[in-house]
Amino acid sequence: MIKKNKNNKLSPDLIIDFFITGRCDMKCPFCYGADNPIDNQNIKEINSQEVFLYKPSIETINITGLNESRPELTFDQITKLLITFAELGLKKINIGGGEPLLRKDTPEIIKIANNLDISVYLSTNGTYLSTRYKEIKDNIKVLGLPLDGSNKKMNNLMGRASYMIDNVKSILVYLDKEKPDHKIKIGTIVSKINIDDIENIGVLLYETPGISHPDIWRIYQFEKIERGENNAKRYEIDDQKFWSVINHLKKRFPQANIAPRANSDHNNAYFFVSPDGMLQLVDNKHRSILDTNNANKEDIYETITKFQKTIKKTINNREWTIK
Ligand code: SF4
Repeated sequence: MIKKNKNNKLSPDLIIDFFITGRCDMKCPFCYGADNPIDNQNIKEINSQEVFLYKPSIETINITGLNESRPELTFDQITKLLITFAELGLKKINIGGGEPLLRKDTPEIIKIANNLDISVYLSTNGTYLSTRYKEIKDNIKVLGLPLDGSNKKMNNLMGRASYMIDNVKSILVYLDKEKPDHKIKIGTIVSKINIDDIENIGVLLYETPGISHPDIWRIYQFEKIERGENNAKRYEIDDQKFWSVINHLKKRFPQANIAPRANSDHNNAYFFVSPDGMLQLVDNKHRSILDTNNANKEDIYETITKFQKTIKKTINNREWTIK
């Protein structure tokens, strides 16, 4: 059992998933990223700054007592929270969304985390990377990109935007020449639709000249949570099929660092911070447990350390990320 630390320090191996925006250029049918933002026409302007609003969940309403939409955290609020996390001893963070590079200030947020000695794993769909990579490359430890099919047709069938595969491929070609200091992680969701194409993705990633071979290939079993719940019939595969794909890939690509994530690894295995600042757990949905906007360092420490099993699972689940 993980013991609470006398100095109120979190384990340096813990990773928090910080969803700094819920906005995204894609609408993947299996997305369980940040809570849904309210449509763009509901964007408010406050002090001549654009503010993006989020629908509060039932738990959020129970915690805040307010049945109101909540704005995305500002740059100052994110900075304050990162400082608190650093004071609690957090050493690793996943910055994701939505699509995190849709925020103009994301490179600065990443830099602040890095300056606070928090290693950043950036989880992006790659759409905006060609214009923004230079701003972030020196301050990240892992760059995570998705790839769910070896060709455009399969990526489309999986529900990704049609431009995604060409984009991800061109990023991998660029990174092969660039030889970055950070690691590259490719995430693939295995479903009923693409199960027979997973080996071809491996060929693309590990046997294609001129393409940067990822340091980690993270392979996820499709999961029916959040948006995936409505699309389970089309995508769901059972554990036995998932593990047989993994066992085959491990033999077929012995050079690859394959990190499988079955559904049983996912349940209650993450601490999320939503774009509006709610600390959340995730089982079959995101469950808000604390409003970090109104919490001090001790509140955050006490809340996280109440969930010892989640801490343990989070650490095990992210062994592949940042050493
Ligand atoms: S790209 Fe990622 S965050 Fe955006 S909809 Fe797809 S899964 Fe969700």
